[in-house]
Amino acid sequence: MEKVEITIIGAGVVGLAIAAEIANKEILVIERHEHFGEETSSRNSEVIHSGIYYPKGSLKAKLCVEGNQLLYQICTSHQIPYQRVGKLIVALNDKEIEGLEELLARGRDNGVHNLQILSQKDVQQIEPHINVLSALWSGSTGIIDTHSLMKYFERSARAKGVDFAYGCEVESIEKKTDGYEVGILDADGERFSFLSRIVINSAGLCADKVAALAGIDIDVAGYRIHYCKGEYFNLGADKHKLIHHLIYPPPTTIGLGIHTVLDLQGRVKLGPNAFYIDEIDYQVEEGHKKDFLESTRPILPFVEESDITPDMAGIRPKLQAEGEPARDFVISHEIALGLPGLINLIGIESPGLTASPAIARYVKKMIDRI
Ligand SMILES: Cc1cc2nc3c(=O)[nH]c(=O)nc-3n(C[C@H](O)[C@H](O)[C@H](O)COP(=O)(O)OP(=O)(O)OC[C@H]3O[C@@H](n4cnc5c(N)ncnc54)[C@H](O)[C@@H]3O)c2cc1C
Repeated sequence: MEKVEITIIGAGVVGLAIAAEIANKEILVIERHEHFGEETSSRNSEVIHSGIYYPKGSLKAKLCVEGNQLLYQICTSHQIPYQRVGKLIVALNDKEIEGLEELLARGRDNGVHNLQILSQKDVQQIEPHINVLSALWSGSTGIIDTHSLMKYFERSARAKGVDFAYGCEVESIEKKTDGYEVGILDADGERFSFLSRIVINSAGLCADKVAALAGIDIDVAGYRIHYCKGEYFNLGADKHKLIHHLIYPPPTTIGLGIHTVLDLQGRVKLGPNAFYIDEIDYQVEEGHKKDFLESTRPILPFVEESDITPDMAGIRPKLQAEGEPARDFVISHEIALGLPGLINLIGIESPGLTASPAIARYVKKMIDRI
């Protein structure tokens, strides 16, 4: 049977970042689509988050703050389009102002720089068309061309000898004495298998199913993924010209709230909303327009019903079911489950794009210890 040293399952931004980081070993990346990044990694807000939201000491906080700095370095060194555009989290009442103070304290605790509470007057100078009482300014928040980032990770991994098998789905993972037998179904319907000493599961929305292939009881382990959809509406009619920064409401329990999403071409979307679904489905419901208007008009009073049209949707791979408290990323070398050499990355929702280069370094340290 053919052998490889390391198999990475999934060529989203996380699998690609890991491949680029741990290269110089015999590595195979397996992706079921014909190209990289066809799922969540190309269906998100493309925001380089600063790391203010997450509990101190969590992987989300640590890897987001580190990833933010690494991403800016990668962008400037490798000509990846980005803009350090900055973000305002706005408050419309006294309770929300208190919330901003808490976010400021948490952000500083997490090591985020360039945070400042702005008065209504300060905000009006930089965003004259929005309604706000006060806002938290995050100067290290930016936007990035995620496709170019993924292309850079893939190119960099290939240059170091990493192989990519596109159009190949991992169907089975069986523990053997010296690694794992990985079974593949390719695009021609052919089945084959090979032996891999180390297996890294970065399969995004299917990471729980891949963990189950290796024999893990995902309910006992707490690895079951719950799909939480986020839809975007495009802001047209030249209204995008009235917005210059990322503008967020205070965060909710399941998401960051419907915000303005700027892209590098100057277009603006509104989104994403957040609701749990049972099946993967990327349709945007026109009927949700009313909710979008209700959520955004208190802050962006100039948005009219005719200005917004359905755009795209993404799905968050959440570890918590609806109504449960937020969970951290799982990045686990499964020795305790009797599966040495298997590394699971599960629940890599936001800020997974921002954290991707830091996640890669974290996984590399795990591999160096195996
Ligand atoms: C609406 C939304 C907005 C977001 N906004 C932001 C943001 O602004 N900033 C930020 O930092 N993060 C954001 N995120 C989070 C970010 O997009 C994700 O954390 C990141 O893209 C996850 O990357 P990934 O590689 O883990 O997963 P994916 O991109 O889903 O890649 C996993 C890959 O595994 C493959 N795969 C699955 N099963 C198999 C199998 N059996 N065999 C072979 N291949 C398989 C899939 O085809 C897929 O390509 C957002 C997410 C959503 C949903």
